[in-house]
Amino acid sequence: MSIAFIGLGNMGAPMAHNLRKAGREVIVFDLNADAVAALVAAGAVAAESPADAARQADEAVVTMLPAAAHVRAVYTGEHGVLAAVGQGVPLIDSSTIDPQTARELIAAAAARGNPMVDAPVSGGTTGAQAGTLTFMVGAEADALERVRPVLMHMGRNVAHCGGPGNGQVAKLCNNMLLAISMIGTAEAMALGVRLGMDPATLAGVFNTSTGRCWSADSYNPWPGVMENVPSSRGYTGGFGTALMLKDLGLATEAARQAGQPAMLGAAAHQLYQWFTASGHAGEDFSAIVKLYNGEA
Ligand code: NAD
Repeated sequence: MSIAFIGLGNMGAPMAHNLRKAGREVIVFDLNADAVAALVAAGAVAAESPADAARQADEAVVTMLPAAAHVRAVYTGEHGVLAAVGQGVPLIDSSTIDPQTARELIAAAAARGNPMVDAPVSGGTTGAQAGTLTFMVGAEADALERVRPVLMHMGRNVAHCGGPGNGQVAKLCNNMLLAISMIGTAEAMALGVRLGMDPATLAGVFNTSTGRCWSADSYNPWPGVMENVPSSRGYTGGFGTALMLKDLGLATEAARQAGQPAMLGAAAHQLYQWFTASGHAGEDFSAIVKLYNGEA
């Protein structure tokens, strides 16, 4: 069984490794030769283009690319996946992109006779390495069943979110809520500390009260409140501010296109835009607490 994997970055490389570990022949392509070489050293086969990789796949083609423009180029470009993939081979795009582009590509694949799903992920690089990702899948039910075994070699949970594009909808809505809750947690922590509370005591109160949320109880942004989270190691690792800014841009643009108000999402987008422009793009997104504690 052979799987083509295109996009071997922070997420894609460990996902491709897990497919190798599951006993699949993995045919890889990336513009970055070093990324390809690292996978080849682990037993994967290098391809010369997305088309070359796709041509050799009989079980699935998986893509894990930065943004919509890259995904479009990889599928519909001159040496793209759709130019060469075998009839009926299912396609999985796990990149985070806008729902509209996902739906257009799924329609183009269907016109060629290839089922395609949008399957963005939650779980970050740690989840990608451990094979515990959650996939949010937009697909017809039969397309999902075709790709489920492949997804389960890279993740632990598969959430069927509805038809094509709805995986991206779920991902964008989740990350918009995450950004808003992180900013809210940072703001409330900073106020409490300014008014005299010990930060760990305050977090403990939130976490047994109605203010409890993942940003407060599992990823607290205040330094020293929790161990093994980015705030305890100078905001390194984790989920980068630049990626959160990208997802908020996708969410607010989707809201604009739908004519749907997203006031707090727009405010969160602007805060992360400012934070990125101020030189914090490389820090974990919980570093937004620096807006409130005088460090930014
Ligand atoms: P990354 O930038 O580390 O990797 C992207 C890879 O794609 C790079 O190796 C790059 O060389 C390659 N690439 C770019 N254009 C290409 C092309 N035309 N052909 C072949 N390869 C090409 O990004 P990442 O962190 O792995 O994220 C990938 C996707 O997953 C993004 O959409 C991101 O939003 C999403 N995501 C990331 C995380 C995370 O924690 N990093 C978590 C969830 C979702």
